[in-house]
Amino acid sequence: MTELALENMNVDTLVVGAGQAGVAMSEHLGNLGVPHLVLERHRIAEAWRTARWDSLVANGPAWHDRFPGMTFSEIDADIGADAFAPKERVAAYFEAYARRCQAPIHTGVDVHKVHRNDGRPGFTVETSAGVIQANRVVAATGPFQHPVIPPIAPGDEAPLTQIHSSEYRHPGQLPEGAVLVVGAGSSGVQIAEELQRAGKPVYLSVGPHDRPPRAYRGRDFCWWLGVLGEWDAEAMRPGTEHVTIAVSGANGGHTVDFRALAHRGMTLVGRTRAFEDGVATFEPDLADNLARGDANYLALLDAADDYIARNGLDLPEEPEARRILPDPECVTRPLRGLDLAAAGVTSIVWATGFSVDYGWLDVDAFDEHGKPRHQRGVSSEPGVYFVGLPWLSRRGSSFIWGVWHDAKHVADHIATQRKYLAYHEAAQRQETHTPSEPSVNDASAERAS
Ligand SMILES: Cc1cc2nc3c(=O)[nH]c(=O)nc-3n(C[C@H](O)[C@H](O)[C@H](O)COP(=O)(O)OP(=O)(O)OC[C@H]3O[C@@H](n4cnc5c(N)ncnc54)[C@H](O)[C@@H]3O)c2cc1C
Repeated sequence: MTELALENMNVDTLVVGAGQAGVAMSEHLGNLGVPHLVLERHRIAEAWRTARWDSLVANGPAWHDRFPGMTFSEIDADIGADAFAPKERVAAYFEAYARRCQAPIHTGVDVHKVHRNDGRPGFTVETSAGVIQANRVVAATGPFQHPVIPPIAPGDEAPLTQIHSSEYRHPGQLPEGAVLVVGAGSSGVQIAEELQRAGKPVYLSVGPHDRPPRAYRGRDFCWWLGVLGEWDAEAMRPGTEHVTIAVSGANGGHTVDFRALAHRGMTLVGRTRAFEDGVATFEPDLADNLARGDANYLALLDAADDYIARNGLDLPEEPEARRILPDPECVTRPLRGLDLAAAGVTSIVWATGFSVDYGWLDVDAFDEHGKPRHQRGVSSEPGVYFVGLPWLSRRGSSFIWGVWHDAKHVADHIATQRKYLAYHEAAQRQETHTPSEPSVNDASAERAS
């Protein structure tokens, strides 16, 4: 896991990126005997070290948000199965995992360009440590590469501090005064809650969301989504493309309850529509967004109750989980406009998501919108693969445990392709050396093995 000179190296399979997706790929390729190299521009699991706020913990418990080959407690006795691992422990986990499976990761190497070779197989890869050749390339560069701030954001002339959630670290980083947090998925709601706990007046702009219970009848929602088959859903339900999921492992983990936040003083507003002359305007959709979040929440409780009854499980009843708090005033009389200066708002945190960047991957594997064209990670450009993308094969694909299974499928595909090539090469060798035609049946077992 060091820097090296790569110039003129030939690798069978190059994995770009050593976050969890790259580490999982390396484990599976190693298990299948596929020679490979992983190049990482920063450090292993860099996103968990430097691209997230200080207090972030995993959204899922340690028994769930991990790879099958190692528990957190194997490297960190403090982290029990039901704990939510702090972000730097997650990074340490992947570093230890990579060490354990002897992943050939080289850090500090940026992949600048990959293009298909003309008239011969494979790809030419330009890196910060030299140009190399690879038969195959796996893009494991992450689902959340570039912070997205929507074009409605006020310009630099506005007297406001504006940061994206990826730049947020802690409340002390923001100026005195109130904060508008735009976006109420897991990042937005956790940041808004932390700011509120730090004593800041907070406005939270809430869009359509799912908000599963943190736990119900003694089992975490990760368990429920697993046994109910929800993690395995192969495609988003139509109409849910812009629905975020609001969960939190912070402070020991709790269900995200927007009304509870409002009863503690947070001002909820609908989706942010525009900024004009120092006034923010909001869509009239707050009550609807909360109602659909409630519906999703209650539907999961129903499905869990049904599962318990069908399987005769002995799990404690939890009727209080169905109690929905009364609507606070910010919901019954929603703000449609907010004069930021008059309200003392001095900063905006944009928790509005990320986009991917495949500018370095100059191959025919993208649709007209620049989105990877692939089937379960196997792209339309032979020899190019993707792992770690949301919904790559299922709902769990961009999460820690999900990427491991997708990486296994991609590695299997690579190993199978190598067998076809091995057969071809062995057959060609034999055809050159033996005048009489070999029987395919005789030869295949030996050549393809
Ligand atoms: C705030 C937040 C919290 C999350 N919490 C959880 C959670 O609790 N549980 C969970 O399961 N998931 C969580 N996720 C989702 C997901 O697990 C993480 O986003 C995870 O980091 C994705 O892993 P990855 O390996 O696919 O991508 P990344 O971790 O982004 O790794 C990609 C790597 O590729 C490198 N790279 C990129 N381009 C190049 C290049 N051209 N050359 C060389 N290297 C390159 C980057 O430096 C990076 O290290 C969270 C996501 C966010 C944003």
